[in-house]
Parts: sequence; C-alpha cells; structure tokens
Amino acid sequence: MSYSNDHPIRLIGGRLALDLVNTADWSEDSEVVHEKIESLEDLGVWLQAFGLSDVALPATAEAFRAFRADLRQFLRSEDRPHLLRLQREVGAWTANGGIARPSLSGLAIMSAFSIVADPRELGRVKTCPGDNCGWMFVDETKNSRRTWCLMETCGNRAKAARHYQKIREERNIS
Ligand SMILES: [Zn+2]
Repeated sequence: MSYSNDHPIRLIGGRLALDLVNTADWSEDSEVVHEKIESLEDLGVWLQAFGLSDVALPATAEAFRAFRADLRQFLRSEDRPHLLRLQREVGAWTANGGIARPSLSGLAIMSAFSIVADPRELGRVKTCPGDNCGWMFVDETKNSRRTWCLMETCGNRAKAARHYQKIREERNIS
C-alpha cells in the first residue's frame, strides 16, 4: 500500500506508536524532512495498512502531525511536558468526537506508555541513524544488532556512502 504521494507504506517499528512516528522522515534536530501524511486520507490508508480500523481520527492532518511530533519527543526523551501535552490532546479529541470507539491518539499513547513503562523494552528502542530518516523501532534481534530501519533503504545507502568514501580516500592517497 502507498501514500497519496506514491511512497510505499513501510511498517518497521514493531509498535503502533513507533510506526506512527515513522509516517515522516526526520532530521537530526527533529524537523520533518519528508511528510507522508498530507491529508486524513493518507492517515486512513496508513491505518488500513497497519490493520487498525474503526478508530476515531483527529480532526485534521495538522492536528495529527502536531500530535505525532509530541509523541516522538516523548518516546525519545520521556519528556514530562510533552507527556502532559499528549494527555491534553487526547482529551481535546475525545471531547470533540464524543467517542464510542477508541481514538487513534489514545491507542498511540497507550502504546507509547507501554514502551516507556518497561525498561527492557525502552532499552531496545532505537532511532535509525540514516541521513534524514529518524525512524524508530524496537530492536528485537537477539544481540541488539539492528542498526537501520531497513537495510534496503538506509542500510544500503550508508554502505554505498562508505564505499565511495573509501574510493575517495584511496584516490587522495595515490
Ligand atoms: Zn532509516
């Protein structure tokens, strides 16, 4: 499945909260460099790909993106102000929707809390070091050896960069 901009939807985080964060690519200072959720339709397609249906969505794509930024900040730092803001946002959406079904934000926050409430789980959360990637995932490999979100994107790009660097160095030497 793909977003409306034709980017394939990739679910690599292993947890709802992490995969939601990965609906954008992030710079090192946590700015969005590539946005995948241009509209609520994109979010709808994403939810379908994730296998979640019948959840209450935020009112606008902007509201979702603000929530997602807080969610990422919280997951990366366990920052208390962000935690409080997250809870407020859930409240705002709930009041809006008069909810009889779970909200996406509520589920995402439960997912995020269950990660940070478990030190072993939190210790396995990693952020991909790829250039302008910033995707997050739980490293579930035996020896914590996973580095990249995906080998076929960031892993290979880094390998190619190292390769060219090596060639450049060899040329400089000779
Ligand atoms: Zn990556």
